Amino acid sequence: MVKRNVNFNPGPAALPLDVLKIVQEELLDYQGSGMSILESSHRAKEFEAINDQAIALVHELFGLGTDYQVLFMGGGASTQFALVPMNFIGDGQMAAYVDTGEFAYKAMKECQIVAKAHVAFSSKEEKYRRMPKMSEIKYPENVAYLHICSNNTIEGTQYQEFPNAGNIPLVADMSSDIASRQVDFRKFSLIYAGAQKNLGPAGVTLVVIRNDFLAKAKTGLPTMFSYKTFVDNKSLYNTPPVFGVYIMKLVLEWIKSKGGLAGVEKINAAKKDLLYSTIDASPDFYKGAAEKASRSWMNVTMRLPTEELEAKFVADAKKEGLLGLKGHRSVGGIRFSIYNAVSLEDIQKTVDFMGKFRKSA
Ligand SMILES: *Cc1c(COP(=O)(O)O)cnc(C)c1O
Repeated sequence: MVKRNVNFNPGPAALPLDVLKIVQEELLDYQGSGMSILESSHRAKEFEAINDQAIALVHELFGLGTDYQVLFMGGGASTQFALVPMNFIGDGQMAAYVDTGEFAYKAMKECQIVAKAHVAFSSKEEKYRRMPKMSEIKYPENVAYLHICSNNTIEGTQYQEFPNAGNIPLVADMSSDIASRQVDFRKFSLIYAGAQKNLGPAGVTLVVIRNDFLAKAKTGLPTMFSYKTFVDNKSLYNTPPVFGVYIMKLVLEWIKSKGGLAGVEKINAAKKDLLYSTIDASPDFYKGAAEKASRSWMNVTMRLPTEELEAKFVADAKKEGLLGLKGHRSVGGIRFSIYNAVSLEDIQKTVDFMGKFRKSA
């Protein structure tokens, strides 16, 4: 028997065991091809089928029509920080950015390298502890798009309701909460997400673009920086991250087997309720780091009375097989990244440990 720990890593993160078992079983001989998918051509029928199925699964699970293009790109979400403004901010134009966390801020900073960014809201001065009220998001009428980060991975905050941008295209970095619950994805003109939190391994980034927005993309960009290249070639202009796309397809099938986004939403709601209620039950000891109304379903952050206790919490948890709980180096504290592949049983085990730890401290 292989020993598996409970994996709270923020990204790369836990993958469903069922998916890993399929990968293991298919590794040496992918469906009778006599070679692994790692070794076959991205032009071979085996990979083309994987690519097509992964695209179809995104359409199906996210409820997207044929007016949306599904792309698989390299470079991580951080590359999208630059590609979005490069493709969509015209001469003399600017885009609006909602600054709710370290990644949202980085996206805005990248925009400022290639174009102009208007700060539509920022909670930086409040240490990113909260999300904006809709009335606090302000920007000029002629911006190229409004950019948001749906879930702030480091700080543990998340939109409970998305801004209504009206006629302004809404663009979202959904890297850390993609496919974790039901969302009206049709509100968005462009969505991007690094796969390594909820969708698969590091190395592939999912991008979804609506055709009417794509039509506004600039021309004359270097080939690999242009979304049109990926759309026109079904993401197969050059060698794609084949193994990442393959695993993403398996993860999407796994999500489908759980009842799709409605199914995983139910489980994720139960997980975060159990964890937050355990934190809130001992307010003198465990303190939620984010404002209550802004709390994330995916990254649960908390503080303990001292940094020494926090270090002991991480060390003791590790002994129980609960790994990856140290908060991001920029904020400290404890962070439970409870993406789709972390089960309700894993959270039960964790809250049992939290009860014991509090008594012993
Ligand atoms: C992890 C993360 C990123 C960075 O992703 P890379 O793929 O490492 O570039 C960007 N945005 C959010 C919200 C993230 O959680």
